[in-house]
Amino acid sequence: MGASMSGYIDCHCHISSEDFDKDLDEVIENSRKAGVVALVAVAEHSGEFEKIINLSQRFPGFIFPCLGVHPVQQEKGTQRSVTTQDLQGALPILHKYREHIVAIGEVGLDFTPRFLVSDEDKEAQREVLRRQAEVAKHLDLPLNVHSRSAGRPTIHLLKELGVQKALLHAFDGKPSVALEGVRQGFMFSIPPSIIRSDQKQRLVKQLPLENICLETDSPALGPEKQVRNEPQNICVAAEFVSKVKGVSLERVMEQTTHNALKLFNNLRL
Ligand SMILES: [Zn+2]
Repeated sequence: MGASMSGYIDCHCHISSEDFDKDLDEVIENSRKAGVVALVAVAEHSGEFEKIINLSQRFPGFIFPCLGVHPVQQEKGTQRSVTTQDLQGALPILHKYREHIVAIGEVGLDFTPRFLVSDEDKEAQREVLRRQAEVAKHLDLPLNVHSRSAGRPTIHLLKELGVQKALLHAFDGKPSVALEGVRQGFMFSIPPSIIRSDQKQRLVKQLPLENICLETDSPALGPEKQVRNEPQNICVAAEFVSKVKGVSLERVMEQTTHNALKLFNNLRL
């Protein structure tokens, strides 16, 4: 443990978002002041991969890249379910940077009705997740997982695939389903939006601290709806977890950072 353990790890944020283009240095500086020691920068599609790698080189030992294909893709201003073609385009770039990444993500299942045109969409999402789970296993990397309106199918598919290292980010399923994930050894990262979410508060009550990590999902899931979230707000999540669990803030910091370092085995502070 020692000095390197004192500080927060933001296990899931979209720091490559254009929302941060104009003041990134300031955002990073403010996060360091708030005690953040590392950010795991996740991708949603292959178009972001190079930018994330560049950011990790601009902030070495602080921004750690995580590449993957999200179950929901943007196209011409609208959102649609992922296809295997989206993954096909991403895999060569992902492999090119395999030595640099600390996880595969953001991957997962999103069964929000408006993204699903047919049952084939669900199956395509499953296939894209399956293939990325294989890549993760092959590279011995954890998965950084999104699940929306699909908590149970996501946990069950990961178990079926024999995945052992996974971070379930902003999990919106039932605590009983999350506990199935805990039995499989999965981690659950908690965002600052917990302060306005009964579901996340119930989840944290049930989860053992040994399976909790912290995240911000910046620029989304901030303490205030519709306001840009930043990695410095990780303290908001940490403070809330400390209150719900009835343990000190220091203990939350140490345990969640320990958990994150255990999960992201390539992340070196
Ligand atoms: Zn995300």
